[in-house]
Formats: sequence, structure tokens, C-alpha cells
Amino acid sequence: MLSRYYSYLQFEDALKTILETLGQKSLSDIEIGKSVNGRSVYGIKLGTGKIKVLVWSQMHGNESSTTRALFKLFKSDSFNSLLKNISLYIIPILNPDGSEKWTRVNANNVDLNRDAIDLTQPESQILRSVFDDFAPDYCLNLHGQRTIFGSLDGDQPAQISFLAPAGDLEKTISQARLKSMQIINAIHGQLNNRVSGIIGRYSDDFNINCVGDYMTSKQVPTVLFEAGHSGDDYSRDQVTDLMYESLKIAFKTIQDSLVVNESNVVDAYNSIPHMSKAYVDVLVKNYRSVSGLQTLSVQYHEQVKEGVLYFVPILIGINREDVLNGHRVIDLNDFPHYNDDLIIEGNLEIRSKSLDIEIFY
Ligand SMILES: [Zn+2]
Repeated sequence: MLSRYYSYLQFEDALKTILETLGQKSLSDIEIGKSVNGRSVYGIKLGTGKIKVLVWSQMHGNESSTTRALFKLFKSDSFNSLLKNISLYIIPILNPDGSEKWTRVNANNVDLNRDAIDLTQPESQILRSVFDDFAPDYCLNLHGQRTIFGSLDGDQPAQISFLAPAGDLEKTISQARLKSMQIINAIHGQLNNRVSGIIGRYSDDFNINCVGDYMTSKQVPTVLFEAGHSGDDYSRDQVTDLMYESLKIAFKTIQDSLVVNESNVVDAYNSIPHMSKAYVDVLVKNYRSVSGLQTLSVQYHEQVKEGVLYFVPILIGINREDVLNGHRVIDLNDFPHYNDDLIIEGNLEIRSKSLDIEIFY
């Protein structure tokens, strides 16, 4: 099982094993293009059903949970039955250079999810040519989100989130969007009681440079999946399982191709809560500084060094009004003797042995 960070070589090894298990071709046979730095981008075709589904993951290199969920799906016993009426085209990592370096952007520092129209990057061109040639009936756009998202009131974190993107500025409820909403509604209905926190809904403000918006504008139902964070799931193992379940529900919903009752679908979709950027990783309350009592917002910065993913606690704000909660909340009124043990470095790294705030991996 791949852990949260893996090198591209580790990924290729794992993919090779999967291909053997699935009776598929070799790695070189499924190369569909190269990244900026010359790494292979792979496309796997599975199933012969009549509904064509295009899935891509890790277009943002530092979002690996959905790629791991795909691997889990490949290995699951129910995988073949999910494919009864489906032909799948899966690009497990669209941004290999970003995945290696654990960056959102590609090697040219471009966010591939803002390159849908300009197509300046080879990775964007690969995705577009697969979209044009394969002509999918559905698209699943797989991502991970930072630890900052929660319910609007800040009471609960958003462990997973979804979006049925708009296809135009008017946010028209097209047949394509209704189908996307229906998939999201099914996931929400079946997993809402299983998440720690909420299932969130992204804003549907239209941006044609975003890949999902572009594909919806072409009348192809597209669903944005976002693996989020809850509690101390920094390995993202829990959310990987939820993404695996979400994918299974999505494939099942697509196969059933239920009749759409427009107003019911829209109402159910709109009942999924919006999110706010209300969370930080650690919120330290009642810190006694020379300028008085303070609330410290601490966020882990993720860095890969020599193949290891480190979480570095950084002070990102003091008394911030937009920060409503933390995945961990420490009230120093409860531990007054630890106040002096909390060190804020010049580079804003923060540490306290007593409070267990340190770099970890
Ligand atoms: Zn993303």
C-alpha cells in the first residue's frame, strides 16, 4: 500500500504490479505522454461497457489520497462488477513532476487546473487529447484539499468535499450538471453518517480555465472529488478509505443511470453544506506574550526531503478572526506552566515539547 508520499518510481512499481494482477499490458504500453521533466504519464483502459468514464488524479502533485484510493479500488474484489456497463480510462497521476517534489504545480510552476483553455503545458495537452479522443460520458476529477476547510460555523472540519462545476457564467442547471449532482447526492446520502465532520460543497463560480468547468461546458457530466482532513489523519489513511467508497458509489450511480427528477436532485444537492476556510492545524489560545493574551494559528507546512514528507508547524497568524477552529485546540489557561516552553523562531517555526508541537513525519 502506498503511503501518503511516494516517489514516482515507487508509484511506477506499484502500478506495474497492479497491471500484472489485472492482466493488463506493461508500463511502456500505457504511456500516453511525458511531463515537463520527461516522466511518463500513464493511461489505463479497463472494461468494455458502453458508458465511458474518464478519471484522472494528482493533476496537483501534492494530492495523493485519491490516487491511493484508485489503487485500493483496483485491488478490490468488487472492481470487476463495478465495470459491468463501463469503459474506464484512468490517468492515475497527471502531474508526475509535482508528485515527485510534492508541489501543487507542475515543473514549470503552472497550476494545471488553470490551464484548461490555454493548454500551455504538456500535461494539460495530454488530458485534453484523451478527453477529445476517448469522448467520455462522465469525468471524475480527483483532488485533495488542505486542512483549512470546515463548516461555515467552524464547528466541524470538511473531511471530503465535492462539486458539480458550472459550465457557464449563469451556472445553468444543464443535464450534464444534473447527472454530476446526482452522483454527489448518492455519495452524500451513503457516506454522510460515516465522515468525521461534514461532507462539503464547493462554490460553483464559473472559471473556464478550470478543467471541470471546461468539461461541463462541453456538456460532459464532471464531478470534482476533494479528499480533505479531519482530526489527526495526517497520513490521510481514513480519507483515502472514504474516497475509495465515494468512487464505488460514483461508479454504481453511473451504471444505474437513474432517471433524473430535476427539482429533487437540485434540492438535495443544495442541502449539502458550503464550506469556509475556518480551520488551522493547531489553535493555541491564551498565549501570554509581551503584547498580551493571544490566539496563535499554527499550520503545518508540508515538505519532502530525501523521500520523506515532513510536517513543519508554522505560525501563520495571531488573533485571526477568520480562523474559527483547529484540528487540535490547546488552551494555555489549562496548562499555564507550558506557556514559556512555547518557542516562536524567527522564521515563524513554532515548537513546544510539552505541548507536543514539533516537526513530525
Ligand atoms: Zn487539487
